[in-house]
Amino acid sequence: MTTRPAQPAARRPFTEKDCGDVPPPGALLVWRDGRHYLHDDSAPCVLCTKPAHLRSHAGEAVHKICAETWLTAHPAEALRGRFVSDS
Ligand SMILES: [Zn+2]
Repeated sequence: MTTRPAQPAARRPFTEKDCGDVPPPGALLVWRDGRHYLHDDSAPCVLCTKPAHLRSHAGEAVHKICAETWLTAHPAEALRGRFVSDS
């Protein structure tokens, strides 16, 4: 039997109830949950490809400002919930 190390509470994945609304174009995302901040910038931002230590609810490595810029630039696609605020 294999055992996996327990996931720290601070790193448990986001669930649907953690996801709030899509901010309107030009508005800021509210990412107060500590699980957005990994302090691990080894992954490139999915939007600008520079190292990012933030993660979206879906686990995408992304800078908050890049996500907000994307939301403003893609208002229709944004409604599908790629980047949302915390609930
Ligand atoms: Zn970025």
